[in-house]
Order: sequence, then structure tokens, then C-alpha cells
Amino acid sequence: MIKVVKFGGSSLADADHFRQVAQIVQSDKIRHYVVASAPGKRFSSDIKVTDMLYRCYEMVRAHQNIDEYYEQIKQRYNDIIADLGLNFDISGELEYVKNAMLHASGRDYAASRGEYLNSLILAKYLGFSFIDAENVIMFKENGQFDAEYTQQLMQEELKKYEYAVIPGFYGSMPNGTIKTFSRGGSDVTGSIVAHAAGADLYENWTDVSGFMMADPRLVENPCAIETITYRELRELSYMGASVLHEDAIFPVRIAGIPINIRNTNRPEDAGTMIVATASSYDKQRIITGVAGRKGFSFINIEKDMMNAEVGFTRRILDVLEDYDLPIEHLPTGIDTISMVIPTAALEGKREKLLASIERRARPDSVVIEDGIAMIAVVGRGMTKSKGTAARVFTALAKAGINIRMIDQGSSELNIIIGVEEADYETAIGAIYHEFVK
Ligand code: ASP
Repeated sequence: MIKVVKFGGSSLADADHFRQVAQIVQSDKIRHYVVASAPGKRFSSDIKVTDMLYRCYEMVRAHQNIDEYYEQIKQRYNDIIADLGLNFDISGELEYVKNAMLHASGRDYAASRGEYLNSLILAKYLGFSFIDAENVIMFKENGQFDAEYTQQLMQEELKKYEYAVIPGFYGSMPNGTIKTFSRGGSDVTGSIVAHAAGADLYENWTDVSGFMMADPRLVENPCAIETITYRELRELSYMGASVLHEDAIFPVRIAGIPINIRNTNRPEDAGTMIVATASSYDKQRIITGVAGRKGFSFINIEKDMMNAEVGFTRRILDVLEDYDLPIEHLPTGIDTISMVIPTAALEGKREKLLASIERRARPDSVVIEDGIAMIAVVGRGMTKSKGTAARVFTALAKAGINIRMIDQGSSELNIIIGVEEADYETAIGAIYHEFVK
């Protein structure tokens, strides 16, 4: 049995957190491979080391002196080492990184050093080997992650060590320069290592006890989700619930390795288990979660006998494609069709777009309506239990909310609802409380 464990920046922000991490890792001998982030925020106004490194890079480009600013970065690492009482001198590494930054080593290189340095310290503290991600995580010429080559290199390397720390977030381009994933990318590294190690579980340790059924900013103390499938997670993350990097799902999903989201500050909590399939669900709650986003617009089009006019929808879709507009949903009536579009995408295109639709499709009317929020009610249990939609709509009606759009995916995994932005918060609360009493 092998577990791969990844610790986020807040879990490695200072010496106290390092101690907690060591306790977690050492309490279970099958936690063989540890993926580490750069030191995150210690308090809410603090700055993540990754952001400090990006700042240094910008300063160098602007020909500003980084001496003083870089001292603060050094301080963060030296404080951790001193507080842990480690006999470890990292000053040579810190000088090397500074010099490289002063000599145009690139933006990704600068950012990647946050995880590199932190992982050196963590490996030392745990007594684990250190595997540099630059030798085992590869990108292709076009900048895409090279899954096959990485899998091969990583597998070979992991075989050499029983216990190791691997820095998250970065890898190498074919020419040897450092490239990072997008922000939060250590989650992706963790997933890649789990796949290569043939792990039984990928534990992702962060500062929350897993996914909540609803956004805690909108619902007080929402319940945690115990088990969620990859597909449900995708629906909820798309709608704004974020804990895990979107791309972190793919490598483990191929291999069928579950991900367990855990809280470093509350290791006693079970967290959320993300699995490929789950047949059971909570019969009391039925839904897995509810999430949403504001900032959508409808393009509403009407035309008598639309249903009989072959090619009408295609002509409209052609226009939208010409204007490079993504369509999120496409609800239709007999003589009406609407398109749900992110409002930001319409910027600067409105008049021309309307004129093009008039010209190409000759509708009776076409109008754009802004100020829409979209809500996704997600749950694998919905396929099996009757009356879920009725409960969602009754809860919204009781809360005095007018539903502007309804869409149910063919998988019956979700119900998507459009409401006025002003009703958004109330709607999320009403749906949540209908299912969680
Ligand atoms: N340190 C990087 C960031 O802040 C990557 C990570 O923590 O996952 O985005």
C-alpha cells in the first residue's frame, strides 16, 4: 500500500505547520511520497512566497534593486529552519537563486524556487530523499504537459527511493528551462506522482476539511461532503467551488486512484473522498452540493414557427462562433431560443452581434438581458430519487424567487437554474436548507 501526500502552502507556511506535517507523514508508514508547495500565508495579510518571487522577477525586469526584498524571502526560509532547530545551511541555495534571478533566468524559474527550497527543508526535516521535479516532470515543446514521458521518468526515479519529497508546481521544458503549471499547480504534481507511484490513495492536505455542500460565505457552517465523484466535482468546480486545481483530477482519474482532501490543522476530520464511481449516496440529503456564479447574460430570440424552419439554430450558432462567444446553455421553447453567455464575453460586441443575428436569421425579436446568476444543484442521488426537482423549485418559490431558466443535463447529475443576480444568495441558501435540515 502506498499513499502520496501533498501539502499546500498554508500547511507549510511556518515551523509549527512543518511539525504538524511531520506528525501526519510519520504517523502512517505508507505515506511514502510527499509533494510540497511553497510557504503560503501565515496570517491573512501575509504574502505567499510564490507571490514574493514573482514580485522579485518584476523588480529585476524594471531594473530595481532586489536586495532588501529578497532578504524577506530568505528570512521566511531561515525562520523555518531556525524554529525547527535544523542543522541545515540553505544560504548557498538562496544566493544561487538570487543570482540566477538577477541574470534573466525567467519568470517560471523564479516562481518555482518557492517549492524547490521548501522541499529541500522538508526532506531534511523528515529524513526523506529529495527528488527534483525538474528531472521527472516534463513539458513538450508547445508547453503542454508530457504525460507519457513524465510517467516513465517518474516511475523509474520513485523506484529508487522508499521515502521522498518532491517539489510541486514545476517541471522542465525539452531545452532544460523550468516551466510551471498554472497557479495552485502543486495539486497537479501530487496527482502525477500518485499515478506514477501506483498509489492506493492521493491525500491532498490543505486548510479546510474537504469540500462543503455550499459556499461558506453564503451558507453558515455548511456540511462537508463525505464522498463525491470526479464528475460531480467537475460540475461543482465549474460553477465556482474551488479547493483543488482543475487539472489535478486527470492523472489519478485515468488510474482510478481516489483523492482524499484533508485538513492539516484538523487531521482528525475525515475530509472529502473523491472517487471514480459511487453507487451509494446520503438518502437524507440526496444532493451532493450546490454552487453557482453571477455574471451571465441571456440572448433571447423569438420567431413564429421557428421549430419548422430548418437550419434556424445553426445560423444563430454560426453568428456566435464568428464573434467567438462561448455558449454555456441553450434552452429552447417552441418559438423561442435563448443562449446563456458570460456577460464579460459580450464586451464591445453587443450591437454588431445583434445586427448580425437580425441579418442572418431574421428573427421577430432578439434582445440581450444581463444580470443573471446560474446555479447548479449537483448529485448522483438525483437519478434515483423522484421529486428532487420539485423540491428545488418549491424551495425557490417559497423564498419568493423567480426562476428564469431551467436545464437538466441528460446524465440527470445536475439541475441548472438561472435566477436574477439579486436573488442569487437567497436561492443558494433556500436550496441548501431544503436538503439539509
Ligand atoms: N505555490 C504555487 C502557487 O502559489 C503553487 C501551489 O501552491 O500549488 O500557486
